Amino acid sequence: MPTRLLAEQGHDITVFYANSNIAPRAEYDKRLVELQRYAADRGFGVIEGAYDPAVWEKKVAPIGEAIKDFSPALGSKHVGDDTAPSPQSVAELLDDDRRRERCRACYRMRLEEAAKAAVEGSYDALSTTLAVSPYQFTDVIHEELERAAAQAGIDAHFEDWRPYYDEATRISRELGMYRQNYCGCRFSIAEGEATRAFIKQQRKAAKEAKAAERAAEEATRAERAAEKQAYADERAKRRAILKQIRQTAD
Ligand code: SF4
Repeated sequence: MPTRLLAEQGHDITVFYANSNIAPRAEYDKRLVELQRYAADRGFGVIEGAYDPAVWEKKVAPIGEAIKDFSPALGSKHVGDDTAPSPQSVAELLDDDRRRERCRACYRMRLEEAAKAAVEGSYDALSTTLAVSPYQFTDVIHEELERAAAQAGIDAHFEDWRPYYDEATRISRELGMYRQNYCGCRFSIAEGEATRAFIKQQRKAAKEAKAAERAAEEATRAERAAEKQAYADERAKRRAILKQIRQTAD
């Protein structure tokens, strides 16, 4: 979606694939092949950065290791606190300062690589497709994009594309594209599972609430119909009595 929107704005795009965060390697390759296929169809280029998970493990993973208490139902913040309210959204489930810092380090590493490649390739500006996902820390992405671009001496082009996420999802389904079900790193595999379980549970709760609402509406309708019928029966009874009285009087 970001590539299409940027192309519509008249930008000439090249995607730099900087994803040493992705584990395992097979997943990295799968996403790359899918991107290359899509880019070939749309007529933009793809440059692959170095795949170096060891560097990611050194720079980012230690922050992720600190998050030991992630619960698929409660996220991290609420573990061990029975009085804390349950998360009401995916953002609340995944909101955690340590996760935020882990992702910041991950964005930083990859955006620095991309900024360096952009300068070497004499590009005008650097943007990032990360800004389409509602499951990322968009404010942190913005900060890190600006930082990496300024450090490399290139313009940053930031746009919050989250409003297009649902459309992007629909289009990718229609095109039969491979759809990843976790962000990329090994920590996000469990978080992705928790997110899906949470969404499923929310949908189930919403469905049950809707069914209860419909049942209550149906009960109210039935009650009104019964009242109406009782009123009609009563009037019919009175009419019959009046008729009988009149016939007796005649
Ligand atoms: S969740 Fe995504 S952005 Fe955050 S550290 Fe893992 S791969 Fe990087």
